[in-house]
Amino acid sequence: MDDSHTLPSHDCPACGTRLDAATSICEGTPAPRPGDVTICIDCTAVMMFAEDLTVRLVKPGEIRDRDALRDIRRAQRAIRRAQEERPS
Ligand SMILES: [Zn+2]
Repeated sequence: MDDSHTLPSHDCPACGTRLDAATSICEGTPAPRPGDVTICIDCTAVMMFAEDLTVRLVKPGEIRDRDALRDIRRAQRAIRRAQEERPS
């Protein structure tokens, strides 16, 4: 099952990586909506979708939900692990 969603093309505000799709960490999650949190696949910056589904960096302390923070840290670890395992 492919949970990848195509997005308007834009650059990561932290590292400049071109972002044009999002993959949900939860199977069967609907397409991203404004206000949803996303993580850059390259630098693992935490970002939030705007109304037009481009992204902006999340401000420190903006996300207070403990479960959300735990999910974000888990996703960041998974991305970094995948980067380490990727042959260079
Ligand atoms: Zn980035």
